[in-house]
Amino acid sequence: MDAGVAHQPLQPGLYIVATPIGNLGDITMRAAETLARCDGVACEDTRVTGKLMKHLGLSKPLWRYDDHAGEKDRARLVAAMQEKAVALVSDAGTPLVSDPGYRLVRDARAAGVPVTTLPGPCAAIAGLTLSGLPNDRFLFAGFLPNKDKARREALDSAAKADATAIFYETAPRLVKSLEAIDRLMPDREIAVARELTKLHEECRTGTAAELAAHFAAHPAKGEIVLLVGPGASEPAGEHDIDGLLSEALQSAKPSQAAAQVAKATGQDRKALYARALELRSA
Ligand code: SAM
Repeated sequence: MDAGVAHQPLQPGLYIVATPIGNLGDITMRAAETLARCDGVACEDTRVTGKLMKHLGLSKPLWRYDDHAGEKDRARLVAAMQEKAVALVSDAGTPLVSDPGYRLVRDARAAGVPVTTLPGPCAAIAGLTLSGLPNDRFLFAGFLPNKDKARREALDSAAKADATAIFYETAPRLVKSLEAIDRLMPDREIAVARELTKLHEECRTGTAAELAAHFAAHPAKGEIVLLVGPGASEPAGEHDIDGLLSEALQSAKPSQAAAQVAKATGQDRKALYARALELRSA
């Protein structure tokens, strides 16, 4: 980074800045530059962000903006953004992802303040990429609730989504959550991604029962992303196939009916043709 550029002030506005989730080397160049050039940093915990700033050799005003921030705190910050460049960070990772900032961004946008984002580390995405679970469709659902009924409901809606589900989890609750997943989705592939980007990074996969047994015997430590793979798409049962073939046979020859059903179900066309002949002569 050009030292001259690094210290030029930024345009007033809100800068959403992602920070490392463990390994400080993951700070992006834009994040470091923005923290160097902003007028102040809105953060969850001034001690945590103070350490990051010290690591970067920076000293800036730090303004507390956490889960307890109210309308007045927000209004004060939004007013400041009219004249100052305010960086928003959370303790770790991407602000707003299971972290404060959603209302601040809404209010800033509503007030006509320029808002920009500096993407970077996010535990959910890091866990997904490490897990090896299908990632073409995924559902991020934040922290799994602690209460049994709410947890069951959250897992139930994850079970219905045709996607890998990603949850944030804490070490003391992990085994209970895995047991709850086992009751609902015993066949799913599960991944427990722990301490991502840190010295003891680990990603363990298996069924929920296997992982519950492992972590009951070896209690997990540190920060955790819990991922639930999608259910296998059910192959159409024999009954469905007969139904589909019979329906197709009403307006098509056996070869055409077999081709149609093969296309719809992915099943073998020759076998379907043989079954279509059987059905027609039954
Ligand atoms: N905003 C953050 C992000 O972008 O990932 C998440 C903040 S949320 C309050 C904190 C949770 O994220 C932790 O309880 C854990 O579930 C997950 N997490 C954060 N850092 C992690 C890491 N290094 N390894 C695994 N999980 C992590």
